[in-house]
Formats: sequence, C-alpha cells, structure tokens
Amino acid sequence: MSEVCAVCGEKLSKYGNRQLKDGILCRNCVKLASPWLNDDDYLARDAEAIRKHLEYREKNKEVLKNFEQEREVDGKYSLYLDEDNRQFVISKRKDFRKDNADVLSYEELEELAIFEQKYMEEDGKVDILMDIRLHNPEIDNICFRVNEFPGMERDSEEYNQTLEQAFRYLNAFDGEEGIDFEQTEGE
Ligand SMILES: [Zn+2]
Repeated sequence: MSEVCAVCGEKLSKYGNRQLKDGILCRNCVKLASPWLNDDDYLARDAEAIRKHLEYREKNKEVLKNFEQEREVDGKYSLYLDEDNRQFVISKRKDFRKDNADVLSYEELEELAIFEQKYMEEDGKVDILMDIRLHNPEIDNICFRVNEFPGMERDSEEYNQTLEQAFRYLNAFDGEEGIDFEQTEGE
C-alpha cells in the first residue's frame, strides 16, 4: 500500500483518508472535495477523476460569487435559493461561501424524496432523511438526516416538526416540472 496521497502526493496522515479505486486520498484533499461524496463515491473514483473533481470545486468558488441568496429554508442543513439564476446550495454552515458549497441548478434535479429510516435494534426509533437525486457529473446524490439527533420516537413532537421541515425543503421546489416528489418509508 502506498504511503502518499494518490492525488497530491503528500504523506498520508493516520485519519481522515479515503480509499479510492486506485489509491488513497489524503485528508487535505478530502476537505477540498464536495461534502456530498460518500465512501462509495470515493471507491468508485480513481485519482484522475478526483483531480477533475477538485478542478470542478475550484471553479465552484467562482460560480458561488454570482450566487444571490434570495430565499432560505433554515434547518440543520439550510437550503439557499437563487430563483433568478435557478440555482441552489445546501449547507450545514451559515457561511456557505467559506464552505465552498456546491452550486446546483434546478435543471439538475431529478428526484426529491423524504424517507423514514427505522432503527432495527431500538424499536420505534426513526430518522427522517432527505434524498436528492441529481443529473450532475460530479454529485449524483445528496442525502442527509433532517432531525438534529439520530433516533426519534415516531409521531412525537420532534418527529412531526422534522417531517414539516422536510416538507419545507420539498415545497421550495414546488411548481418545478420534471422532478419526482416522493415520500417513502424505509426499512
Ligand atoms: Zn492529497
């Protein structure tokens, strides 16, 4: 196994690395990549694909400069909408520019789904997840937990508020054509 990052060539640190198809990506390169890439996304990509991804991330900084935050759906993850440019960003941080949050377009939206994930061991506990499928060459899926802390009692006050929150994300794109809206119960 190589001891250096397959993309930047720096020595690997002990933690925060990701396994790629053909090598290992260092923590610093991971920080530059989109936060929406998961372990499987990294495994499916080789060093060359990550180099291209990091170039895309550099360009995203420029695109963000023209992003006008006209509407906002506040939450653990906030959704910011630029309705004139038909673009949106989703970020965990208020300072989404500093975070270089990915700018996505309405046209790239394929499916918005709210689903409930059950906890097998803890009977009755659930999470509500927001799952967004995209036609985007770099990010094909955004999935995040809407509730602040994992595991809620079903039909509790927190559960109902979380579901309302999930619908606020969904409704932000209400009226858009060609998007599938779904609400499903997971296993
Ligand atoms: Zn690196």
